[in-house]
Amino acid sequence: MHLEQNVPLAPFTTLRIGGPARYLARIASEADLLEAIRFAREQNLPIFTLGGGSNLVVPDQGYPGLILKIEFPESIELTRNESSIEAKVSAGTDWNALVLHLCEQGIAGMECLAGIPGLVGASPIQNIGAYGQEVAQTIAWVRALDVQTLGFSELSNQACGFAYRTSIFNSIERNRYIITQVVFRLDPAARPNLSYADLRKHFDPEAQPTPLEVYEAVRRIRAAKGMLIDAAHPSADTRSAGSFFKNPVVPARKLTHIAQVLGVPEAEIPHWPAGPDRIKLPAAWLIERAGFPKGFTQSPGSPVGISSRHTLALINKSGTATCRDLQQLASLITIQVEYHLNISLEQEPVTLA
Ligand SMILES: Cc1cc2nc3c(=O)[nH]c(=O)nc-3n(C[C@H](O)[C@H](O)[C@H](O)COP(=O)(O)OP(=O)(O)OC[C@H]3O[C@@H](n4cnc5c(N)ncnc54)[C@H](O)[C@@H]3O)c2cc1C
Repeated sequence: MHLEQNVPLAPFTTLRIGGPARYLARIASEADLLEAIRFAREQNLPIFTLGGGSNLVVPDQGYPGLILKIEFPESIELTRNESSIEAKVSAGTDWNALVLHLCEQGIAGMECLAGIPGLVGASPIQNIGAYGQEVAQTIAWVRALDVQTLGFSELSNQACGFAYRTSIFNSIERNRYIITQVVFRLDPAARPNLSYADLRKHFDPEAQPTPLEVYEAVRRIRAAKGMLIDAAHPSADTRSAGSFFKNPVVPARKLTHIAQVLGVPEAEIPHWPAGPDRIKLPAAWLIERAGFPKGFTQSPGSPVGISSRHTLALINKSGTATCRDLQQLASLITIQVEYHLNISLEQEPVTLA
């Protein structure tokens, strides 16, 4: 295990915001993980697991404990039989590299999740999803260290308690498990998923694109929306944590209220069914209706703002913004949406605490 002290955390996050960690351990094996946790226990330090830092807000004061930075070597082991393909993947593997690897072999099931930044070990935490797919649809089980018992266990898909942007790992069992491996089960006969309108528009109605063609289309759509981090073309619009707010799931009757407040027919309010008497509303649409267009900043020189290409992405515009700047903007948006539309927005990225 490699241990460092007083390590600035901003460079390890896609927002490039936040103060230093008292300790940071680079974790390249399960043995490293156990050693680091024993060290934290001896020193009475809190611990936090860091993947690619793409869903993370680090406070300006930093972190007083030990950051466990996941650096397991990348590894993807495929096993095929007639009815399924199993991919055993290390937590340190780049998420997009896994999707590309599968798509290149003609395997469908994850093509819509192309271009999501971060590591495989973090993918179950908020059940990553995009363009009509969620990772929960393909996870068979997850290997994780239980930090309470220091034993490794294998949690089935069902035990992970997946739902929209949630699992046991970011709710009832938050910070209890550290994921070291994820096993995915894919259907060799599956066709790429083209259920999402943006994606359908990309192809002829008769087309039967390959998983790799869908992978590429998803990346192009994401790039146009500033939701693709491309090291070759850095942009302030991607200095974000992706969507800063979840799409709220609310009682269906809220639709009538919003229609009245905005003076529009209910049929014009975009929404999706989300269980009995519940609907999911697009947070970006609500934010725009509450007065925050793409490219919004509080003042011309403001270090933070809304991406010029996606209303849901709050960005570190100047590259030197503080967490306080970001939180002020997030609060302003949350308060205005609540005030105008009576909808509470929930932050999607995790705040390091
Ligand atoms: C430009 C951009 C676009 C994005 N688009 C999407 C999108 O379309 N859909 C979507 O769902 N998300 C999206 N995200 C959010 C983010 O990429 C995902 O949530 C991703 O899975 C986070 O991975 P990470 O490795 O960066 O995790 P981190 O940000 O490092 O950590 C996130 C959380 O997971 C925990 N964690 C990380 N690794 C482990 C582990 N091995 N074991 C236990 N806990 C762990 C951390 O403690 C933290 O709570 C986007 C982000 C950006 C910046």
